[in-house]
Amino acid sequence: MHTILSLFLTSLLVTIVKSTPPTLAGDIDIIKRDVAITGGGAGGIYCAISLQDQGKSVIVIEKKDRLGGHVETYVDPGTGIAMDYGFALFENTSVVNDYFARFDIPLVKIRQFNITWSTYDFRTGKTAVPSYNPSREEVLAAFATYFAQLARYPELEQGIFLPSPIPEDLYMPFGRFVDKYKIHAAVPTMFLLNAGVGDLLSNAVLEVFRALPRKLVEGVLTSTVLTPANHTVIELYRRAEAELSSTSSLFLSAEVVETHQITLLVRTPTTDGKLTLIQAKRLLIAIPPNPALLDPWLRLTPTEHSLFTRYISTGLYVGLVNGTRLPPTAGILNLAPNHTMYSFPYLPDTEAAVRHHMLDDIRRIQRENPDRFPGTGAPAFVAFAAHAPYNLQVSGEDIKNGFYERLYALQGEMNTFWTGSAWAADISGDIWKFSRGVVLPMLVGEL
Ligand SMILES: Cc1cc2nc3c(=O)[nH]c(=O)nc-3n(C[C@H](O)[C@H](O)[C@H](O)COP(=O)(O)OP(=O)(O)OC[C@H]3O[C@@H](n4cnc5c(N)ncnc54)[C@H](O)[C@@H]3O)c2cc1C
Repeated sequence: MHTILSLFLTSLLVTIVKSTPPTLAGDIDIIKRDVAITGGGAGGIYCAISLQDQGKSVIVIEKKDRLGGHVETYVDPGTGIAMDYGFALFENTSVVNDYFARFDIPLVKIRQFNITWSTYDFRTGKTAVPSYNPSREEVLAAFATYFAQLARYPELEQGIFLPSPIPEDLYMPFGRFVDKYKIHAAVPTMFLLNAGVGDLLSNAVLEVFRALPRKLVEGVLTSTVLTPANHTVIELYRRAEAELSSTSSLFLSAEVVETHQITLLVRTPTTDGKLTLIQAKRLLIAIPPNPALLDPWLRLTPTEHSLFTRYISTGLYVGLVNGTRLPPTAGILNLAPNHTMYSFPYLPDTEAAVRHHMLDDIRRIQRENPDRFPGTGAPAFVAFAAHAPYNLQVSGEDIKNGFYERLYALQGEMNTFWTGSAWAADISGDIWKFSRGVVLPMLVGEL
C-alpha cells in the first residue's frame, strides 16, 4: 500500500550510499517543515496560524480549492453582496475575540434571532401547533438547571476530560437525564440550536454537553453570540490563505498519496503529476477521524482503527433558495404534531431526499397557504452544500468504557497529533480553545 514512498525512500538511501543524484529527484520536490497539517478547516488553520506566529514552519494540505471546511459563503452576482450560509455564530470568548482580532476582522453581536417564526407540518403543508409549548420563564429555568449540571464538570471547558470513574449522568441517554432533572422545557430550544445531532433524546448526555456548551447556548438565548461585522466568515479564511501562501505554507486541491511515519507524499494540482515529499517533525491531523477519510493515505494503527470505527455521525445540509415568497424576517419551522411530546419533525435521511424535500416542502406550504405566501415565485436553489460526516459522537456504552480516555492517549504517538470537532465539540470556538490549550503546547514541546 505504501510502495511509492517506500520505493522512493529506498532509492534515496541507495543513492546516498552510491553518491549519485536521486533518480526520482526530478519527479519529486522535497520540502521540510516543523509541522505538516492535513485539513484546512477550523482546527487546522487555527493551528497553522498559531504555529507560524510562534515562528514555526508549517505546510497545510487541504483537499478543496479553498480553506474553511464547513464555511459556505454565497456572493450575489448582481450586487456583489456576500452572505454566509454555513457556519456563522461564534461564542463570545477570549479565544474567538483574539483570533478575529489577529486578522483585524471586527465582530458584532448577532441580531438575526429577531425573526417571526411560524410552524408548519412540512408533510401536509398546513400550520401546526406544537403539542408542548413551555413559557419563556420555564425555558430559562430549565436551561439554568442544565447549566448547573454542566458546571459539575469544569474539565469539559477545556476538552473531553472526564472524571474517573465516569458518572452515569454523563453516559445515560439524554432523554433519561431530561426526566431526572426535569428540564423538558429546554428540549425544543436545544433541538433548534443544533438539529444536526441525530436523535437528541437517545444521544448520550456527554454528547449533548459537547454539542450545546454553556457559552454558546447562553449567547444565543441572550443574543450575544458573535459574527463578523460584514457577515462573511470566509474572510477569515481568505486572509489565512493569503498569509500561508505568502510563506509557501499551503497546498490547496492537494491530496496526501501516502505516509511513512511523518513523511508525507503529496499530489498537488499545479505540479503536473509531480509529487511533493514533505519531511516534517510533527504531523497534525485536522480532518474528521473517519476511516473512510483516513485509510486511503494514512497507515491507521489497530488502536486508531478500532477507535475511529466506533463513531456515529450525521449529515447537515444547507441551501439558499429563492422564490420562497417568504416576507423578510419571517422564518418557518418544521413540526410533526404528536411525534414525541416535543413534536420533533421527521427528517430525511439521504442527501438526495434532503434536496428533494427542501423544494417540495416549500411548494406544498405555498400551495396550502396562499394568503401567507402571496405571488407566483417558485422555489429554486441558488446554492446547496452537504456537510457530512457531521457531529462525530459515540454511544453511552463507549463513553462508559473509556472511549475518550483511549482517544486522547493517541495524542503525540509517533509525533502525530490530532485536532478538530471530534476532539472537542462541533463548534469552532471550542476547537480553537482545545487546540490552544491542549494540542499546541504538547505539539510544540521541544520543537
Ligand atoms: C451547516 C453548518 C453550520 C455550522 N454552524 C456553526 C456555527 O455557526 N458556529 C460554529 O462554531 N460552528 C458551526 N458549525 C460547526 C463547525 O463548522 C465545525 O465545528 C468546524 O468546522 C469543524 O472544524 P474541523 O477543523 O474539525 O473540521 P472541518 O472544518 O470540516 O475541516 C476539515 C478540513 O479537512 C479537509 N479534508 C478532508 N479530508 C481531507 C484529506 N484527505 N486531505 C486534506 N484535507 C482534507 C476538508 O476539506 C476540510 O476543509 C457548523 C457546521 C455546519 C456543517
